[in-house]
Amino acid sequence: MRKGVAVSPGVAVGTAYCIHEIFVNPDTQRLEEADVASELALFEEAREKAGDELRAMAIKVASQIGDSAARIFAVHETILRDPVFSRKIRHWIVEDRLKAAAALVRLLDEYSTLLSRTGDDYLKERISDIREVVTRVSAHLTDVLKPQLNPLIGSLIVVADELLPSQAVALGDIDVRGIVTQGGSQTSHAAIVARSRGIPAVCGVEGVLRHIKTGDTVVVDGREGHVLVNPPPETASAFRKLEREFFHLKDQLAANREHPAVTADGERLELLANINSVADARAACAMGATGIGLFRTEYLYLTHASVPDEEEQVAVYRDIIDASPGHQVTIRTLDIGGDKTVPYLGHTHQEANPFLGWRSIRLSFEHPQFFTTQLRAVLRAAHHAQSRGGAVRLMFPMITTVEEMRRVRRMVHQAATQLQEAGKAFASVPIGMMLEVPAAAISIEAMLRHADFVSVGSNDLVQYLMAADRDNPKVSHLCQPLAPPVLRLLNHVIKACRKRNKPLTVCGEMAGQPRAFVLLLGMGLRSFSMSPAFIPSIKELANHVTVADAQEILRRALKRSTIRGVQRLLGEELKRLAPDLALLDIATP
Ligand code: PEP
Ligand code: MG
Repeated sequence: MRKGVAVSPGVAVGTAYCIHEIFVNPDTQRLEEADVASELALFEEAREKAGDELRAMAIKVASQIGDSAARIFAVHETILRDPVFSRKIRHWIVEDRLKAAAALVRLLDEYSTLLSRTGDDYLKERISDIREVVTRVSAHLTDVLKPQLNPLIGSLIVVADELLPSQAVALGDIDVRGIVTQGGSQTSHAAIVARSRGIPAVCGVEGVLRHIKTGDTVVVDGREGHVLVNPPPETASAFRKLEREFFHLKDQLAANREHPAVTADGERLELLANINSVADARAACAMGATGIGLFRTEYLYLTHASVPDEEEQVAVYRDIIDASPGHQVTIRTLDIGGDKTVPYLGHTHQEANPFLGWRSIRLSFEHPQFFTTQLRAVLRAAHHAQSRGGAVRLMFPMITTVEEMRRVRRMVHQAATQLQEAGKAFASVPIGMMLEVPAAAISIEAMLRHADFVSVGSNDLVQYLMAADRDNPKVSHLCQPLAPPVLRLLNHVIKACRKRNKPLTVCGEMAGQPRAFVLLLGMGLRSFSMSPAFIPSIKELANHVTVADAQEILRRALKRSTIRGVQRLLGEELKRLAPDLALLDIATP
């Protein structure tokens, strides 16, 4: 059994499919002369399949997310079809008698060395594109060699060092039952994607690709953070039973989609969705979300080969508005930096402390042209929303000071003036701040004078408050939303917003976690934004808890001085209040 960090609840049993397996263990045995021709044929077959797959992905993503997002797959197809790519591989197979898989690894090494020497950040970023293309072809080589392990069918457990954003998008095509990664933690890409699709996941499992091979039977226990590799049959069957119960529970909960979200004593709640794409917006509606609490627009930039222009942005925002009829849609401006890079904005990984550096609103201010384009697109989309009986709110990430709020207000005003002068239809929108920096949380009263609403980005707030990187499993025991200082700060912020009647949402991952939900409810929060997959279970949990219960549990939690103490209290209380939902709870250290 391997221990990691539980990041998405539930239990899954399936067959391991290792991504990047080839990089860990390429087969370097030389080919016999008689095998050269068949190796060339294998390579061509894998290349063809990878090309077809990329084209199909581009079409699918174009229809679900938009043309701009699909472009990354077109770029990958261009690399794949580049004659130099296959000429080199063929040469190494014929002349050096390398197996195709080993030739692919050599190609990647060669390009990585070459591009990393260029000093050009854009070119350096292309290494990851080449890596993705090579990985895709390699996966098909394995597929061709072991047809009984067709990686695209059956109950798959995806195993990887780390999941790249584009891989996460691609997983949408596959029947993935579980995810296990070495890197990442609660708030990393892999975790967010896993939760948004309701897939049990465990991150932070040391040396995962050394211990698990494609084809192994793997159990993922996303409640406790356990991963079992080739367990004895009786253990596997016990977990299969739990997996069936998990599915059954999810189906049962999905049936509450039309019911309003209310506590056991009838207090009405807003359960909103965090989304990254139009497809997510549709899923959110299907899960019963009553609006979009956070649209992370950077995914539009991350999946786009160059800056998406105003028209492209308006089209995506409109699609999201249309997928959430009559609801409020909160659009967050570009939040790049930290773990997300967009090379064409001059952003690179080279800062010593990227999470403390040039990220988010700080980067947007340095690109006033791109930034204003985005603001104009949002204001135009807001007009569309109004005509559909909905509304748009505009939210700015990582706000640290009052000056920044003043500056964004000026820029929104400028964008509106430009639209007016150009005779384009737009609507004014409430301007809100994401509360993610402890400095802003401490001075919440002053900040509230400049914000129409507040949304707590607890993923970042917790990492900054606890000085513990949200993506580093080595410090995930510290990066905990239930840490006593976090609870105290959140309590302070929620009280301040209620006192001033400022609309407040929590949109960090904690809003969808049962234990944290109860505490936030006790603090007075009534608007929660989360991965769509969590909405049914949080709605069900709300039905089991009264506001008085939540206040009493909070009162006791605030007296605890350790994370473990708070966790233990909440674990016990949840078992008492909602024993049927135990499968959806996550036990953190
Ligand atoms: C957060 O920080 O809590 C948040 C919701 O934003 P993101 O996860 O995109 O940084
Ligand atoms: Mg954030």
